[in-house]
Amino acid sequence: MSLLNILTYPDPRLNKVAKPVAAIDARIQQLAADMLETMYEAKGVGLAATQVDVHERLLVMDTSEERDQPLVVINPRVVWTSDDVVLGDEGCLSVPGFSGDVERFAEIHIECENANGDTYKIEATELQAVCIQHEMDHLIGKVYVEYLSPLKRGRIKTKLIKEAKEAQKSES
Ligand code: ZN
Repeated sequence: MSLLNILTYPDPRLNKVAKPVAAIDARIQQLAADMLETMYEAKGVGLAATQVDVHERLLVMDTSEERDQPLVVINPRVVWTSDDVVLGDEGCLSVPGFSGDVERFAEIHIECENANGDTYKIEATELQAVCIQHEMDHLIGKVYVEYLSPLKRGRIKTKLIKEAKEAQKSES
């Protein structure tokens, strides 16, 4: 297993639209394992393949308190969403140091495949429901900051670009 590099907003590769996973093979299983390791290491609750610069419909998550319920979600399809919406404070491993309020469906049901290629259903509520919607947005090239006001988004962008430049300088 190995840790993967997580892209940072506003990297344009975060705006790429992922293609369906064509075959759940050893490469995909390795990718899922590496993504889980990367997510746990970064203390995130979810990670989409887009964030590690792989543009295929795959995400991993673990919203359990004990951090012992890893889920591999391949080719997710939304089958039902609640009428209720919730407003919650969201963060993202690709937008370090920031968070912002985003409106999401309170509940969502999806169908997907696991790393063995078996189809299963997730009936998600609360944090897990928010996480699924956040990660599925990544797969269509959307970062949560796009829901924020242009002012707040601009502030985040400017700060992260500045930090990236400083990090580059200290490396060279
Ligand atoms: Zn994210």
